[in-house]
Amino acid sequence: MKFADVIGQKEVKDVLLAQVRAGRLPHALLLTGDTGYGTLALALALASYVMCSQKGDNDSCGQCPECVKTDKLIHPDLHFSFPVIKKSSGKTTSDTYINEWLTQLGSDKYFDLTDWLRVIGTENKQAIIPDDEADNIIRKLSLSAYEGGWKVMIIWLPERMNGAAANTLLKTLEEPSPKTLFILCSEHPEMLLDTIVSRTQRVDVPPLSTEDLCQALTERRGLDNDTAMGVARVAGGSWLKALKQICDSDDSKAKLNSFMQLMRLAYMRDLNGLMRWSESMASLSREQQKEYLTYMLHLLRENFIYNFGRSELNFMTPQERDFAYKFARFINERNIKQFSEEFAHALRDVAGNVFGRTIFFNLALRTIILLRA
Ligand SMILES: [Zn+2]
Repeated sequence: MKFADVIGQKEVKDVLLAQVRAGRLPHALLLTGDTGYGTLALALALASYVMCSQKGDNDSCGQCPECVKTDKLIHPDLHFSFPVIKKSSGKTTSDTYINEWLTQLGSDKYFDLTDWLRVIGTENKQAIIPDDEADNIIRKLSLSAYEGGWKVMIIWLPERMNGAAANTLLKTLEEPSPKTLFILCSEHPEMLLDTIVSRTQRVDVPPLSTEDLCQALTERRGLDNDTAMGVARVAGGSWLKALKQICDSDDSKAKLNSFMQLMRLAYMRDLNGLMRWSESMASLSREQQKEYLTYMLHLLRENFIYNFGRSELNFMTPQERDFAYKFARFINERNIKQFSEEFAHALRDVAGNVFGRTIFFNLALRTIILLRA
């Protein structure tokens, strides 16, 4: 993958390119940012650039044998670790799902954990980088580079690694081998061990600019400029959110409907209705529950901001705006802080395996009280 194929992110590309050109590449890079900002695409472009035997000043050549192999994801010195679902018996490593991984990555470099779980067909479970992966990392890195050049290990969502795998990674980072590059692509660097973070060089990948998103939507999806601008403005800098809006609007509608339902039922103090709402939320996969809650948290903030009448600060779709027109006045300075805390709390509980229906029913009860504040 060439840097030219990564959407936007000119500043980050320049920083990475300058380091390679100056021969000052650290042995471990930590790219932080939402997957929709392009962390994984940047990691692949950097891997290609490092390995390319005829690199230019600003990009890999795309044609040398190394580029051909990295493009096809078959370069023997390019390795991956990523979250998977543990099999009930036997060892599970990332490589257990390597075929699915290469198929996904071969078709699109922009995807999130929910997309990935859909690919491996296990939406209802929590994905981790399992302990068995520790041996795998050691084994892969102890092999000398086939091509005599760089070895690159891309770790997607390293925050999903704990226990033995994280300790192995830490040890490996403490004693770096020459010409070995780790690229960690993290959405939640705050969840990584401090000792791991301190042994990497951190590069924050920011949200994509509205202009870059707009350009990508017109070039890659054939949208006209006005439509592309409309989509880009509410995508929060994420290519995935932009795509979801145009491809998967049923999903956004379902989330908005669920939010509206919760607020209406809570306003009417309809306990039976809220019980049914809790059950429907609990029936979603855990990753979907997190998505819904994250979305609702976002919508609460947007509704709060709506009250100030500053549309340039608001990022809502037309449907969300319609609802906010009547609803926003219920979200105010007396309850926004607590509302945010309650939803963030529910998010943590979902991640921590607490029984779904209880989380959502509690949240519904708190919503009744907070709406009256
Ligand atoms: Zn090349």
